Amino acid sequence: MEADHSGETADYIPELASADPDRLAVAICTEDGRLYSQGDSDVAFSIQSISKPFVYALALADRGFDAVMEKVSVEPSGDAFNEISFEAGTGRPLNPMINAGAIAAHTLAGPSGATPQERTSRIIDGLSAFAGRRLTVDSAVYESEIATAYRNRALANMLRANEIIEGEPLDAVTGYTRQCSLLVTVDDLALMAATLANRGVNPLTGAPVVPAEVVRQVLSVMATCGMYDGAGHWMTNVGIPAKSGVAGGVIGALPGQVGIATFSPRLDRHGNSVRGVDLFRRFTSEMGLHLMEVP
Ligand code: GLU
Repeated sequence: MEADHSGETADYIPELASADPDRLAVAICTEDGRLYSQGDSDVAFSIQSISKPFVYALALADRGFDAVMEKVSVEPSGDAFNEISFEAGTGRPLNPMINAGAIAAHTLAGPSGATPQERTSRIIDGLSAFAGRRLTVDSAVYESEIATAYRNRALANMLRANEIIEGEPLDAVTGYTRQCSLLVTVDDLALMAATLANRGVNPLTGAPVVPAEVVRQVLSVMATCGMYDGAGHWMTNVGIPAKSGVAGGVIGALPGQVGIATFSPRLDRHGNSVRGVDLFRRFTSEMGLHLMEVP
């Protein structure tokens, strides 16, 4: 079969634009912790937007559903990831998978009154617990993104003006950008997704990372808002809760079954990995994993 070379690496973050576009990796982790991977599975890349569902989970676990819902809604926006869109009346971001909602969710991780540094530490610790190993920030990716993060700064300023976030907006953007710069492999991502599939308990370490009711909320939001403005096509064609990131990663989590992760840097016009989407489509049809299909 011909290799698919369509799509482009993300060009708005210089460090991502220069990624080797031909990398390809896949990993699957069952809910009892068996991990299978193929291809460039030892190549680390930045987690980017795949951090969003996990940070939303930490915010829900740390602050409770009502406090988070007051600041971030759960309606699909159908907009691009960095769209400047807020709910009329409340000023809330529409969901935690678009940048505005993700920056707000970032500020809700950890106890209320935490400093920006404590918040970021809570997030790095929490995402590491999902992955079952210590994750670290890629400082080159961080520096490269923060230097030109004008749009995310604008979003944070809007969130502050709408009284959705507290404190200094720039602190929220720096912390959020660090969160996006965490380095992961497909093995890490498959395990993180498998932790969601396994009711919030890491299937390898046995650590309870977030409560089961938090997972239900997070997977529902991933199913409706996880694939940028391509979410409807994703749900009909692939049919599992998922999240993609602009470095080329995609995760999917099937409750009670598996966590799946792919990595391939070329992106389609929605910002989703071209080969990742194709691999997921094949997995779910060949293995009968589509949620709306009777097994
Ligand atoms: N750090 C990226 C941003 O906020 C994440 C984007 C993504 O992966 O969709 O622009």
